[in-house]
Amino acid sequence: MNYLSTRGDATPRRFCDILLEGLAPDGGLYLPEHYPHVDSTMLTHWRNLYAQHGYATLAFEILSLYIDDIPAADLKAICETTYTPEVFGTLEIVPLKSLQPKFYLEGLSNGPTLAFKDMAMQLLGNLFEYELGRRGEQLNILGATSGDTGSAAEYAMRGKQGIRVFMLSPHGRMSAFQQAQMFSLQDPNIHNIAIEGVFDDCQDIVKAVSNDLGFKRRHKIGTVNSINWARLLAQVVYYFAGYFQATRSNAEQVSFAVPSGNFGNICAGHVARMMGLPIRQLVLATNENDVLDEFFRTGVYRVRGSADTHETSSPSMDISKASNFERFVFDLLGRDGARTKALFEDGVAKQGQFDLSQDPAFAQARERFGFVSGKSTHADRLATIRDVYEKFDVMIDTHTADGVKVAREHAQPGEPMIVLETALPIKFAATIVEALGREPDRPPKFDGIEALPRRVRVMPADADGIKRLVVQECG
Ligand SMILES: *Cc1c(COP(=O)(O)O)cnc(C)c1O
Repeated sequence: MNYLSTRGDATPRRFCDILLEGLAPDGGLYLPEHYPHVDSTMLTHWRNLYAQHGYATLAFEILSLYIDDIPAADLKAICETTYTPEVFGTLEIVPLKSLQPKFYLEGLSNGPTLAFKDMAMQLLGNLFEYELGRRGEQLNILGATSGDTGSAAEYAMRGKQGIRVFMLSPHGRMSAFQQAQMFSLQDPNIHNIAIEGVFDDCQDIVKAVSNDLGFKRRHKIGTVNSINWARLLAQVVYYFAGYFQATRSNAEQVSFAVPSGNFGNICAGHVARMMGLPIRQLVLATNENDVLDEFFRTGVYRVRGSADTHETSSPSMDISKASNFERFVFDLLGRDGARTKALFEDGVAKQGQFDLSQDPAFAQARERFGFVSGKSTHADRLATIRDVYEKFDVMIDTHTADGVKVAREHAQPGEPMIVLETALPIKFAATIVEALGREPDRPPKFDGIEALPRRVRVMPADADGIKRLVVQECG
Protein backbone atom coordinates (compact mmCIF):
# COMPACT_ATOMS: atom_id res chain seq x y z
CA MET A 1 0.00 0.00 0.00
CA ASN A 2 1.28 3.44 -0.94
CA TYR A 3 0.28 6.74 0.62
CA LEU A 4 -0.32 10.06 -1.07
CA SER A 5 -0.92 13.63 0.06
CA THR A 6 -4.31 15.36 0.02
CA ARG A 7 -2.63 18.28 -1.77
CA GLY A 8 -1.55 16.28 -4.77
CA ASP A 9 1.98 15.02 -4.02
CA ALA A 10 1.79 11.41 -5.18
CA THR A 11 5.40 10.37 -4.51
CA PRO A 12 4.90 6.76 -3.45
CA ARG A 13 5.51 6.33 0.28
CA ARG A 14 4.90 3.28 2.40
CA PHE A 15 3.52 3.03 5.89
CA CYS A 16 6.82 3.22 7.77
CA ASP A 17 7.94 6.18 5.65
CA ILE A 18 5.04 8.25 6.98
CA LEU A 19 4.78 6.70 10.46
CA LEU A 20 7.14 9.17 12.13
CA GLU A 21 6.12 12.18 10.00
CA GLY A 22 3.56 14.91 10.47
CA LEU A 23 2.33 16.75 7.40
CA ALA A 24 3.33 15.71 3.88
CA PRO A 25 6.03 17.98 2.37
CA ASP A 26 3.38 19.88 0.34
CA GLY A 27 1.44 20.69 3.54
CA GLY A 28 -1.26 18.07 2.96
CA LEU A 29 -2.22 15.01 5.01
CA TYR A 30 -1.38 11.44 4.10
CA LEU A 31 -4.03 8.99 2.94
CA PRO A 32 -3.78 5.51 1.43
CA GLU A 33 -4.00 5.58 -2.37
CA HIS A 34 -7.18 3.53 -2.10
CA TYR A 35 -9.40 1.99 0.59
CA PRO A 36 -9.26 -1.81 0.50
CA HIS A 37 -12.76 -3.20 0.03
CA VAL A 38 -14.07 -5.67 2.58
CA ASP A 39 -16.76 -7.95 1.12
CA SER A 40 -19.38 -9.84 3.08
CA THR A 41 -17.34 -13.07 3.20
CA MET A 42 -14.42 -11.21 4.72
CA LEU A 43 -16.72 -9.38 7.12
CA THR A 44 -18.12 -12.70 8.35
CA HIS A 45 -14.60 -14.04 8.73
CA TRP A 46 -13.67 -10.98 10.84
CA ARG A 47 -16.87 -11.26 12.89
CA ASN A 48 -15.83 -14.79 13.85
CA LEU A 49 -12.22 -13.84 14.46
CA TYR A 50 -13.24 -11.08 16.85
CA ALA A 51 -15.63 -13.38 18.71
CA GLN A 52 -13.18 -16.27 18.94
CA HIS A 53 -9.72 -14.70 18.99
CA GLY A 54 -10.35 -11.20 20.23
CA TYR A 55 -9.66 -7.59 19.36
CA ALA A 56 -5.90 -7.89 18.78
CA THR A 57 -6.48 -10.44 16.02
CA LEU A 58 -9.10 -8.23 14.38
CA ALA A 59 -6.73 -5.27 14.63
CA PHE A 60 -3.97 -7.27 12.95
CA GLU A 61 -6.28 -8.21 10.04
CA ILE A 62 -7.31 -4.61 9.41
CA LEU A 63 -3.86 -3.10 9.89
CA SER A 64 -2.34 -5.67 7.52
CA LEU A 65 -4.35 -4.21 4.65
CA TYR A 66 -2.56 -0.89 5.13
CA ILE A 67 0.86 -1.93 6.42
CA ASP A 68 2.98 -4.11 4.16
CA ASP A 69 6.44 -3.02 5.25
CA ILE A 70 6.45 -4.66 8.68
CA PRO A 71 6.74 -8.47 8.64
CA ALA A 72 3.37 -10.04 9.48
CA ALA A 73 4.66 -11.87 12.56
CA ASP A 74 6.05 -8.61 13.99
CA LEU A 75 2.86 -6.67 13.31
CA LYS A 76 0.83 -9.42 14.93
CA ALA A 77 3.06 -9.34 18.00
CA ILE A 78 2.70 -5.54 18.22
CA CYS A 79 -1.12 -5.82 18.10
CA GLU A 80 -1.08 -8.56 20.74
CA THR A 81 1.16 -6.60 23.10
CA THR A 82 -1.04 -3.52 22.68
CA TYR A 83 -4.62 -4.70 23.01
CA THR A 84 -4.68 -6.80 26.16
CA PRO A 85 -7.47 -7.15 28.75
CA GLU A 86 -4.88 -6.13 31.39
CA VAL A 87 -4.42 -2.72 29.74
CA PHE A 88 -8.00 -2.15 28.53
CA GLY A 89 -9.97 -3.82 31.30
CA THR A 90 -12.20 -6.26 29.38
CA LEU A 91 -11.93 -9.16 26.96
CA GLU A 92 -13.85 -7.20 24.30
CA ILE A 93 -11.46 -4.22 24.73
CA VAL A 94 -14.29 -1.94 23.46
CA PRO A 95 -17.43 -3.37 25.14
CA LEU A 96 -20.90 -2.23 24.05
CA LYS A 97 -23.28 -1.15 26.77
CA SER A 98 -26.96 -1.05 25.86
CA LEU A 99 -28.91 1.92 27.23
CA GLN A 100 -32.13 1.13 25.42
CA PRO A 101 -32.88 -1.53 22.81
CA LYS A 102 -30.65 -0.68 19.83
CA PHE A 103 -29.08 2.36 21.50
CA TYR A 104 -25.54 1.65 22.68
CA LEU A 105 -22.46 3.21 24.17
CA GLU A 106 -19.19 1.77 22.86
CA GLY A 107 -16.65 1.89 25.70
CA LEU A 108 -13.43 3.29 24.28
CA SER A 109 -12.09 4.79 27.48
CA ASN A 110 -11.05 1.92 29.68
CA GLY A 111 -7.35 2.27 28.83
CA PRO A 112 -4.61 3.75 31.03
CA THR A 113 -5.79 7.40 30.85
CA LEU A 114 -9.55 6.82 30.64
CA ALA A 115 -10.05 8.50 27.26
CA PHE A 116 -10.40 7.00 23.79
CA LYS A 117 -7.05 8.43 22.69
CA ASP A 118 -5.39 5.46 24.41
CA MET A 119 -6.86 3.19 21.72
CA ALA A 120 -4.55 4.69 19.10
CA MET A 121 -1.74 6.03 21.23
CA GLN A 122 -0.94 2.70 22.89
CA LEU A 123 -0.44 1.19 19.44
CA LEU A 124 1.60 4.17 18.29
CA GLY A 125 3.98 3.76 21.24
CA ASN A 126 4.71 0.18 20.24
CA LEU A 127 4.99 1.00 16.52
CA PHE A 128 7.39 3.88 17.22
CA GLU A 129 9.61 1.78 19.46
CA TYR A 130 9.70 -1.00 16.85
CA GLU A 131 10.52 1.25 13.91
CA LEU A 132 13.08 3.36 15.76
CA GLY A 133 14.77 0.16 16.95
CA ARG A 134 14.91 -1.13 13.37
CA ARG A 135 16.52 2.10 12.20
CA GLY A 136 18.75 2.56 15.25
CA GLU A 137 17.30 6.05 15.71
CA GLN A 138 15.98 8.16 18.56
CA LEU A 139 12.98 10.47 18.72
CA ASN A 140 12.18 13.41 20.97
CA ILE A 141 8.45 13.96 21.01
CA LEU A 142 7.51 17.56 21.69
CA GLY A 143 3.84 18.23 22.31
CA ALA A 144 1.34 20.66 23.75
CA THR A 145 -1.72 19.47 25.60
CA SER A 146 -4.75 20.79 27.40
CA GLY A 147 -5.39 17.35 28.85
CA ASP A 148 -6.30 14.09 27.10
CA THR A 149 -3.72 13.95 24.29
CA GLY A 150 -0.73 14.64 26.49
CA SER A 151 -1.54 12.05 29.09
CA ALA A 152 -2.40 9.41 26.47
CA ALA A 153 0.95 10.11 24.76
CA GLU A 154 2.91 9.90 28.01
CA TYR A 155 1.29 6.63 29.10
CA ALA A 156 1.95 5.18 25.64
CA MET A 157 5.61 6.26 25.49
CA ARG A 158 6.72 5.75 29.10
CA GLY A 159 9.70 3.45 29.36
CA LYS A 160 9.98 3.06 25.57
CA GLN A 161 13.46 2.62 24.10
CA GLY A 162 14.74 5.48 21.99
CA ILE A 163 11.88 7.85 22.85
CA ARG A 164 11.70 10.91 25.09
CA VAL A 165 8.57 12.98 25.61
CA PHE A 166 8.56 16.71 26.35
CA MET A 167 4.95 17.65 27.07
CA LEU A 168 3.94 21.27 27.57
CA SER A 169 0.72 22.09 29.41
CA PRO A 170 -0.72 25.40 30.66
CA HIS A 171 0.30 25.78 34.31
CA GLY A 172 -2.63 25.27 36.67
CA ARG A 173 -5.26 24.97 33.93
CA MET A 174 -5.85 21.25 33.56
CA SER A 175 -8.33 19.46 35.83
CA ALA A 176 -6.87 18.21 39.12
CA PHE A 177 -7.28 14.63 37.96
CA GLN A 178 -5.54 15.28 34.62
CA GLN A 179 -2.61 17.00 36.36
CA ALA A 180 -2.28 14.12 38.81
CA GLN A 181 -2.36 11.57 35.97
CA MET A 182 0.45 13.21 34.05
CA PHE A 183 2.65 14.64 36.77
CA SER A 184 2.75 11.46 38.86
CA LEU A 185 4.67 9.62 36.13
CA GLN A 186 8.21 9.02 37.35
CA ASP A 187 9.67 7.50 34.16
CA PRO A 188 12.96 9.20 33.28
CA ASN A 189 11.99 9.51 29.57
CA ILE A 190 8.86 11.56 30.35
CA HIS A 191 9.26 15.31 30.92
CA ASN A 192 6.28 17.33 32.13
CA ILE A 193 6.64 21.06 31.58
CA ALA A 194 4.00 23.39 32.99
CA ILE A 195 4.16 26.62 31.01
CA GLU A 196 3.27 29.94 32.63
CA GLY A 197 0.60 30.78 30.08
CA VAL A 198 -2.42 29.33 28.28
CA PHE A 199 -2.71 26.39 25.88
CA ASP A 200 -2.06 28.62 22.84
CA ASP A 201 1.29 29.67 24.35
CA CYS A 202 2.24 26.00 24.64
CA GLN A 203 1.25 25.38 21.05
CA ASP A 204 3.18 28.45 19.86
CA ILE A 205 6.33 27.11 21.52
CA VAL A 206 5.93 23.73 19.81
CA LYS A 207 5.50 25.52 16.47
CA ALA A 208 8.50 27.79 17.06
CA VAL A 209 10.76 24.86 17.92
CA SER A 210 9.47 22.75 14.99
CA ASN A 211 9.93 25.65 12.57
CA ASP A 212 13.62 25.82 13.45
CA LEU A 213 14.42 23.10 10.92
CA GLY A 214 18.10 22.87 11.86
CA PHE A 215 17.25 22.30 15.52
CA LYS A 216 14.46 19.92 14.61
CA ARG A 217 16.79 17.74 12.54
CA ARG A 218 19.75 17.86 14.96
CA HIS A 219 17.64 16.90 17.93
CA LYS A 220 15.22 14.48 16.22
CA ILE A 221 12.10 16.41 17.19
CA GLY A 222 8.82 14.70 16.33
CA THR A 223 5.14 14.89 17.30
CA VAL A 224 2.23 12.58 18.01
CA ASN A 225 -0.61 14.84 16.96
CA SER A 226 -3.94 13.69 15.65
CA ILE A 227 -3.04 14.05 11.96
CA ASN A 228 -0.79 11.00 12.22
CA TRP A 229 -2.19 8.35 9.86
CA ALA A 230 -1.26 5.47 12.17
CA ARG A 231 -3.46 6.94 14.91
CA LEU A 232 -6.37 7.18 12.53
CA LEU A 233 -5.83 3.65 11.28
CA ALA A 234 -5.84 2.24 14.82
CA GLN A 235 -9.23 3.88 15.34
CA VAL A 236 -10.77 2.20 12.30
CA VAL A 237 -10.66 -1.14 14.14
CA TYR A 238 -13.18 -0.25 16.84
CA TYR A 239 -15.84 0.71 14.29
CA PHE A 240 -15.70 -2.90 13.09
CA ALA A 241 -15.68 -4.24 16.66
CA GLY A 242 -18.68 -2.05 17.54
CA TYR A 243 -20.56 -3.21 14.45
CA PHE A 244 -19.96 -6.89 15.21
CA GLN A 245 -21.25 -6.49 18.76
CA ALA A 246 -24.39 -4.62 17.71
CA THR A 247 -25.44 -6.90 14.84
CA ARG A 248 -25.86 -10.58 14.04
CA SER A 249 -25.61 -10.45 10.26
CA ASN A 250 -23.93 -8.27 7.66
CA ALA A 251 -27.31 -7.37 6.21
CA GLU A 252 -27.86 -5.00 9.13
CA GLN A 253 -26.90 -1.34 8.95
CA VAL A 254 -25.93 0.74 11.96
CA SER A 255 -25.16 4.38 12.65
CA PHE A 256 -22.37 5.79 14.79
CA ALA A 257 -22.48 9.06 16.74
CA VAL A 258 -19.10 10.63 17.45
CA PRO A 259 -18.24 13.54 19.78
CA SER A 260 -15.89 15.49 17.52
CA GLY A 261 -13.21 18.15 17.68
CA ASN A 262 -10.31 17.64 15.31
CA PHE A 263 -12.29 15.21 13.12
CA GLY A 264 -9.84 12.38 13.86
CA ASN A 265 -12.18 9.89 15.45
CA ILE A 266 -15.03 10.31 12.98
CA CYS A 267 -12.59 10.30 10.06
CA ALA A 268 -11.70 6.75 11.09
CA GLY A 269 -15.43 5.97 10.85
CA HIS A 270 -15.43 7.43 7.35
CA VAL A 271 -12.53 5.12 6.42
CA ALA A 272 -14.38 2.09 7.85
CA ARG A 273 -17.46 3.04 5.84
CA MET A 274 -15.39 3.49 2.66
CA MET A 275 -14.03 -0.03 3.23
CA GLY A 276 -17.59 -1.33 3.09
CA LEU A 277 -18.62 -1.58 6.74
CA PRO A 278 -22.44 -1.23 6.67
CA ILE A 279 -22.68 2.19 8.34
CA ARG A 280 -25.72 4.20 7.29
CA GLN A 281 -25.01 7.47 9.06
CA LEU A 282 -21.99 9.03 10.68
CA VAL A 283 -23.48 11.45 13.19
CA LEU A 284 -21.04 14.21 14.07
CA ALA A 285 -21.59 15.97 17.40
CA THR A 286 -19.90 19.23 18.39
CA ASN A 287 -20.13 21.38 21.49
CA GLU A 288 -20.49 25.18 21.32
CA ASN A 289 -17.41 25.18 19.07
CA ASP A 290 -19.49 24.22 16.09
CA VAL A 291 -17.14 24.69 13.10
CA LEU A 292 -17.93 21.20 11.84
CA ASP A 293 -21.66 21.24 12.53
CA GLU A 294 -21.81 24.49 10.58
CA PHE A 295 -20.09 22.85 7.61
CA PHE A 296 -22.37 19.83 7.50
CA ARG A 297 -25.46 22.05 7.81
CA THR A 298 -24.46 24.83 5.40
CA GLY A 299 -21.47 23.83 3.26
CA VAL A 300 -19.40 26.69 4.69
CA TYR A 301 -16.21 25.76 6.52
CA ARG A 302 -15.26 28.80 8.59
CA VAL A 303 -12.42 28.45 11.08
CA ARG A 304 -12.53 30.54 14.25
CA GLY A 305 -10.03 32.87 15.87
CA SER A 306 -8.98 32.30 19.47
CA ALA A 307 -11.41 34.99 20.65
CA ASP A 308 -14.27 32.94 19.14
CA THR A 309 -13.09 29.61 20.53
CA HIS A 310 -15.11 28.95 23.67
CA GLU A 311 -13.88 27.24 26.80
CA THR A 312 -16.55 24.63 27.44
CA SER A 313 -17.30 21.77 29.80
CA SER A 314 -16.34 19.30 27.03
CA PRO A 315 -12.87 20.85 26.68
CA SER A 316 -11.31 18.18 24.46
CA MET A 317 -13.63 19.37 21.69
CA ASP A 318 -12.73 23.06 22.04
CA ILE A 319 -11.16 23.55 18.64
CA SER A 320 -11.06 26.48 16.24
CA LYS A 321 -10.21 24.38 13.19
CA ALA A 322 -10.41 20.64 12.62
CA SER A 323 -6.98 19.35 11.74
CA ASN A 324 -8.13 16.10 10.08
CA PHE A 325 -11.01 17.59 8.10
CA GLU A 326 -8.91 17.99 4.96
CA ARG A 327 -8.85 14.20 4.58
CA PHE A 328 -12.62 14.06 4.22
CA VAL A 329 -12.73 17.08 1.90
CA PHE A 330 -10.23 15.34 -0.40
CA ASP A 331 -12.53 12.31 -0.67
CA LEU A 332 -15.63 14.50 -0.99
CA LEU A 333 -14.06 16.25 -4.00
CA GLY A 334 -13.34 12.94 -5.71
CA ARG A 335 -9.72 13.01 -4.52
CA ASP A 336 -8.89 16.16 -6.44
CA GLY A 337 -5.60 17.24 -4.83
CA ALA A 338 -5.36 20.52 -6.72
CA ARG A 339 -8.81 21.62 -5.56
CA THR A 340 -8.19 20.50 -2.01
CA LYS A 341 -4.95 22.47 -2.01
CA ALA A 342 -6.73 25.58 -3.28
CA LEU A 343 -9.50 25.32 -0.67
CA PHE A 344 -7.04 25.01 2.21
CA GLU A 345 -4.27 27.31 0.97
CA ASP A 346 -6.28 30.10 -0.64
CA GLY A 347 -9.48 29.57 1.33
CA VAL A 348 -8.72 28.52 4.89
CA ALA A 349 -5.16 29.88 5.26
CA LYS A 350 -5.79 33.26 3.55
CA GLN A 351 -9.49 33.98 4.11
CA GLY A 352 -10.27 31.73 7.07
CA GLN A 353 -12.96 29.85 5.17
CA PHE A 354 -14.27 28.16 2.05
CA ASP A 355 -17.79 27.73 0.79
CA LEU A 356 -19.07 24.57 -0.92
CA SER A 357 -22.75 25.40 -0.46
CA GLN A 358 -23.25 25.87 -4.23
CA ASP A 359 -21.12 22.88 -5.18
CA PRO A 360 -22.85 19.61 -6.11
CA ALA A 361 -20.23 17.82 -3.98
CA PHE A 362 -21.74 19.28 -0.81
CA ALA A 363 -25.00 17.31 -1.09
CA GLN A 364 -22.88 14.16 -1.35
CA ALA A 365 -21.54 14.65 2.17
CA ARG A 366 -24.90 13.41 3.39
CA GLU A 367 -26.18 11.37 0.46
CA ARG A 368 -23.08 9.46 -0.51
CA PHE A 369 -20.86 9.69 2.58
CA GLY A 370 -23.58 9.46 5.25
CA PHE A 371 -22.61 12.49 7.33
CA VAL A 372 -25.15 14.34 9.46
CA SER A 373 -24.42 16.60 12.41
CA GLY A 374 -25.67 18.46 15.44
CA LYS A 375 -24.52 20.60 18.32
CA SER A 376 -24.78 20.39 22.09
CA THR A 377 -24.42 23.15 24.69
CA HIS A 378 -23.54 23.20 28.38
CA ALA A 379 -27.23 23.06 29.30
CA ASP A 380 -27.75 20.09 26.93
CA ARG A 381 -24.78 18.35 28.49
CA LEU A 382 -26.11 18.72 32.03
CA ALA A 383 -29.59 17.58 30.99
CA THR A 384 -28.24 14.56 29.10
CA ILE A 385 -25.92 13.46 31.91
CA ARG A 386 -28.84 13.72 34.35
CA ASP A 387 -31.29 11.93 32.07
CA VAL A 388 -28.98 9.01 31.29
CA TYR A 389 -28.14 8.64 34.98
CA GLU A 390 -31.77 8.72 36.12
CA LYS A 391 -33.17 6.47 33.39
CA PHE A 392 -30.37 3.95 32.96
CA ASP A 393 -28.22 4.32 36.07
CA VAL A 394 -25.20 5.00 33.85
CA MET A 395 -22.84 7.92 34.40
CA ILE A 396 -21.44 9.45 31.22
CA ASP A 397 -18.79 12.11 30.73
CA THR A 398 -19.40 15.52 29.18
CA HIS A 399 -18.07 14.65 25.69
CA THR A 400 -20.05 11.43 25.51
CA ALA A 401 -23.10 13.45 26.60
CA ASP A 402 -22.68 15.66 23.52
CA GLY A 403 -22.65 12.47 21.44
CA VAL A 404 -25.78 11.06 23.11
CA LYS A 405 -27.66 14.33 22.72
CA VAL A 406 -27.03 14.53 18.97
CA ALA A 407 -27.44 10.76 18.44
CA ARG A 408 -30.98 10.98 19.82
CA GLU A 409 -31.84 13.58 17.19
CA HIS A 410 -30.78 11.24 14.39
CA ALA A 411 -31.64 7.74 15.68
CA GLN A 412 -34.05 5.71 13.51
CA PRO A 413 -36.41 3.20 15.10
CA GLY A 414 -35.19 -0.35 14.61
CA GLU A 415 -31.65 0.60 13.57
CA PRO A 416 -28.74 0.27 15.99
CA MET A 417 -27.20 3.60 17.02
CA ILE A 418 -23.76 3.34 18.59
CA VAL A 419 -22.46 6.36 20.51
CA LEU A 420 -18.70 6.36 21.00
CA GLU A 421 -17.90 6.91 24.65
CA THR A 422 -14.77 9.05 24.49
CA ALA A 423 -13.86 9.53 28.18
CA LEU A 424 -14.90 8.46 31.67
CA PRO A 425 -16.74 10.95 33.92
CA ILE A 426 -13.98 11.01 36.56
CA LYS A 427 -11.83 13.10 34.18
CA PHE A 428 -14.38 15.92 34.21
CA ALA A 429 -15.69 15.69 37.75
CA ALA A 430 -16.74 19.33 38.24
CA THR A 431 -19.46 19.15 35.58
CA ILE A 432 -20.68 15.79 36.85
CA VAL A 433 -21.11 17.32 40.30
CA GLU A 434 -22.97 20.23 38.70
CA ALA A 435 -25.30 17.82 36.87
CA LEU A 436 -25.82 15.14 39.50
CA GLY A 437 -24.87 16.67 42.83
CA ARG A 438 -22.41 13.87 43.47
CA GLU A 439 -18.84 12.92 42.63
CA PRO A 440 -18.33 10.51 39.73
CA ASP A 441 -17.17 6.96 40.42
CA ARG A 442 -13.44 6.48 40.36
CA PRO A 443 -11.84 3.30 39.04
CA PRO A 444 -9.97 1.79 42.04
CA LYS A 445 -6.54 1.99 40.42
CA PHE A 446 -6.81 5.80 40.52
CA ASP A 447 -7.49 6.05 44.24
CA GLY A 448 -5.33 8.73 45.83
CA ILE A 449 -3.38 9.72 42.68
CA GLU A 450 -3.67 13.40 43.61
CA ALA A 451 -1.42 12.71 46.62
CA LEU A 452 1.40 10.98 44.69
CA PRO A 453 4.78 12.71 44.30
CA ARG A 454 4.95 14.89 41.19
CA ARG A 455 7.55 15.29 38.51
CA VAL A 456 6.98 18.58 36.68
CA ARG A 457 8.99 21.70 35.85
CA VAL A 458 7.31 25.09 35.77
CA MET A 459 8.81 27.27 33.02
CA PRO A 460 8.08 30.63 31.37
CA ALA A 461 6.47 30.71 27.92
CA ASP A 462 9.76 30.91 26.03
CA ALA A 463 10.81 28.65 23.15
CA ASP A 464 14.55 29.14 23.77
CA GLY A 465 14.19 27.86 27.32
CA ILE A 466 12.50 24.72 26.00
CA LYS A 467 15.24 24.21 23.41
CA ARG A 468 17.89 24.46 26.14
CA LEU A 469 16.01 21.88 28.19
CA VAL A 470 15.83 19.44 25.25
CA VAL A 471 19.56 19.83 24.60
CA GLN A 472 20.37 19.32 28.27
CA GLU A 473 18.22 16.18 28.61
CA CYS A 474 19.54 14.61 25.43
CA GLY A 475 23.11 14.96 26.74
C1 LIG B 1 -9.90 14.18 21.66
C2 LIG B 1 -11.26 14.01 22.22
C3 LIG B 1 -12.43 14.20 21.45
C4 LIG B 1 -12.38 14.70 20.03
O1 LIG B 1 -11.85 13.75 19.13
P1 LIG B 1 -11.37 14.17 17.67
O2 LIG B 1 -10.71 12.95 17.14
O3 LIG B 1 -10.39 15.29 17.89
O4 LIG B 1 -12.56 14.63 16.90
C5 LIG B 1 -13.66 13.93 22.04
N1 LIG B 1 -13.76 13.53 23.32
C6 LIG B 1 -12.66 13.34 24.10
C7 LIG B 1 -12.84 12.91 25.51
C8 LIG B 1 -11.38 13.57 23.58
O5 LIG B 1 -10.30 13.39 24.36
